[in-house]
Formats: sequence, C-alpha cells, structure tokens
Amino acid sequence: MALQEGAQYTVRITSAAGDGDGIVRLEDAVVFVHDALPGELAEITIEHIGHNAVWARADRILEPSEARIEPDCPQYTRCGGCRFRHMTYDAELEVKRRRVQDALQRIGGLSLTVPPVHGAVRQDRYRNKVQFPVAPGPRIGFFQERTHKVTDIPDCLLQPEQDAAIRNALRGWMKQHRIPAYDERKHAGLIRHLYLRTNGQGQTLCCLVVRDWPLPHSKELVSALRETDPNLVGIVLSRNDKRTNVVLGSSYQILWGQDWLEETLCGLSFRLSVPSFFQVNRDQCEVLYGIALDFAGLTGKELAVDLYCGIGTISLCLARKAGRVIGVEVIPEAVEDAKKNAQRNGLAGKTKFVCGDAGQLAEQLARDGLQPDVLVVDPPRKGISEGVIQAAVQMGPRRIVYVSCDPATLARDLKSLRQYGYEPVKVEAVDMFPRCAHVETVVQLCGHEA
Ligand code: SAH
Repeated sequence: MALQEGAQYTVRITSAAGDGDGIVRLEDAVVFVHDALPGELAEITIEHIGHNAVWARADRILEPSEARIEPDCPQYTRCGGCRFRHMTYDAELEVKRRRVQDALQRIGGLSLTVPPVHGAVRQDRYRNKVQFPVAPGPRIGFFQERTHKVTDIPDCLLQPEQDAAIRNALRGWMKQHRIPAYDERKHAGLIRHLYLRTNGQGQTLCCLVVRDWPLPHSKELVSALRETDPNLVGIVLSRNDKRTNVVLGSSYQILWGQDWLEETLCGLSFRLSVPSFFQVNRDQCEVLYGIALDFAGLTGKELAVDLYCGIGTISLCLARKAGRVIGVEVIPEAVEDAKKNAQRNGLAGKTKFVCGDAGQLAEQLARDGLQPDVLVVDPPRKGISEGVIQAAVQMGPRRIVYVSCDPATLARDLKSLRQYGYEPVKVEAVDMFPRCAHVETVVQLCGHEA
C-alpha cells in the first residue's frame, strides 16, 4: 500500500538525519519525521510526499528517548532557525558527527573515522550577526519556516541579549513617527531589515536596510537607539530598492558614528564593514582556524595559497607562521578589507591578496609556475569546481587543507582530489552553529610524494 498525505502511523524511529529530523522506513519509503529522535515510538502524520523522500510530523511521542529535552524557546519549530532544541547537546553533536562520517563514507568512499565534534562552550547567544526582516505591523523578527511571513519574536536565544531591546526601540520609533515597514508584495514602505553585528566586547554596529532615503525622523531614531544600547559604535543605512531576497543594498550612508566594527580573532585585529563576510561564531571560529593551522603544518618558510579567503582571516593566521601567503577572493570589497587587515596586523609584507574567481586565478598561478607548499580552500557550500581541483593539482602543493561548511560537497571534492593523488589523512569537525543544522569540517590531504 502506498503512503498518503494525511495518513497516520505509529512508528519506531530508527535513525537521525543530519538536520535533526528522525528517520523511519515505511512502505519502502524513507520518511523524515520532524521533532522525533532515534529509538522513539511516535504517532506521526504524513505531511508531504516528494520524489525521493517523504516528510512527516510527530503528533505524539509514546516512548521518549533519553536524549529528549524540553525546547527552551517558545518560537522553536515555528521560526525555522534552530533544529536541535528538542535534544541534549551531546546528542546533537553525535548527529553532526554522523552526518560528516556518512558523507565521507557514502559520497567520498573514504574510510576515515570522524572523531567527536568539537562542541561549543556557549550554545546560546553565540551569533555575532543577525538580519531581522521587518514587515508591516511593524513586525520585526524571523521568517516562519519555508515562508515569507515575518513573526515578531520577544527574544532569540542565539543572539546577544541587547538585540531584543534594539528591536523594541526600532518598533517604538516606527510607530511613533508612522514610518512604514517595507511591504514585499506592493514593493512599498521603507524599513526592510534590521542588521546588527556585535563584537567580542559587546560593541554593536547597527545597519537599517531601507528601500529609499532620506529617512524621516532619523535624528530621533539615532537618539532612541543610542539610549537603548550605549555600546553602539555606529548606525548606518543601506539602500536597497530592488525586488529581491538579497538583504543588503549596494550603497551606504552613515547616520551616526562609524560604519565599521573592530573584532579580534586569534590575536589578530580585523576591521569589519557591514557587507564583509565574517564567521558568525567567534569562539568556535578560533577552534576551527586552530585546526586548519595545525593541519597546514607550517614552520615559518612556506608559501601558502588561501583560496576563498574573504577578508583574509585564515590568510593572516597562516602568514604569522609561513614565509608568504597569497589570498584569492571574488568580492572586491573583501579583498580591500583583507589588504587593510594585513596592514593593521603588520603582515602586509608577507601577504598578497588578489581579486577574482578562485578557479581562474588558481589556473593562472599554476601557469605562472607557482608551487605553494600548502593550499588552503574554504569555499561556499557548493564546494570547489573541477577547474579549481585541476589547478590545485597542477600547482602540486605538498598539503591541502580543506575547510568546508557542507559535508556532502566536501566528500565529493575529496573523492575527486584523491583520484589526482591527494589522500585525505586527517579530519576534524567543529560545531560553529549549536542548535542549528550546520557543521564545519576541516580535512588535511597529503600529496603522494609528501
Ligand atoms: N575564509 C574566509 C571566507 C570563507 S566564506 C573566512 O573564513 O572568513 C567563502 C568565501 O568565498 C566568501 O568570502 C566568498 O565571497 C568567496 N567566494 C565565493 N565564490 C568564489 C569564487 N568563485 N572565487 C573566489 N572566491 C569566492
């Protein structure tokens, strides 16, 4: 009998998917059950039947797992940000470890054993950046899972405590001066997003994304926000007049203070502007980079190439221990930030940053006969292209350090690199996103002659 949407079953959950869902096989189909843990006996309702999988929700847990805990956030499962609040942190880390292990085995065909994931000391309020959508009401909060409906939220446990007060101050100012929120359907109204970036000392840079400027009553907004959070260092506007899901616009205006925030990471100082990429969990980022650096095995003389270098965070960590580092990044502003960050930290003489596509520039470097000792790659989720892999192989580095935010594309790329003679020898996973469905992995690969 085939499964039907709306049908109910009583099932024993057999395993966990990488994003925290429970898994059970029913009528030859793989069913992902929201909010159910391995080992649990649950009453479930089939919600959606897709081509390769089926999704269900757990209506009642008849026999709960020992790993089950009461979610501590009232918005949990409605907002879609967190996925692991119904289980202990240890259980979450094991799900994440299995996800990496399974990908390496099934997709990569590798037999490397993934050790326990480096868990975070702080599992709440670890995020240093947030973009709250603003919608008519005004509602300031999060999109409900898989929708464009904005839910107002009293607090988000992943964000610094003062964010709630800043949201309230913005809401109060909008109401008092009748400043309209952006309405997606009509492409009208003004306030689109509230963006906040906070550093390790609790200083915050605030950016308001508006459809148009000048912003009426901006003086009153500045006073209200500064009164609410004395640790603000700047308030800027970003103008985005496009019908788009992209949050930030391309032009900026300072309303008050500075348009950047200073952050320290691994003993280095970085200047962050609103659009520059920076890992959202500073403490765990230090753990991740520490592993990457260890895998790079530098002694002070080496030439290292850092592809997908962003604002140069990994490059500069490498530069302190290497002879010379070349960073490659596609976003021009990030490259400029990287150069300034090198100067700030007295490492400009040892580093060079170039702007362009990693694949094309890696090919260029290979053609120029560059032979780095170590190649570091930290690509976006889609992984590295075949072009990058071929150029990497041509350059013939002794070691490759692959930092990845997606175990599936990592495993695919490792398989390919292995065919060219690079053997993955060490793997570590780091939990950069406690309670959320992501995991970072670092792999060390060695060339055959190394
Ligand atoms: N290593 C940095 C950034 C990692 S995020 C850090 O840890 O902070 C991935 C980076 O790759 C982003 O900065 C993104 O802009 C860049 N990127 C994306 N596609 C690229 C491409 N084709 N070529 C070069 N860089 C790219």
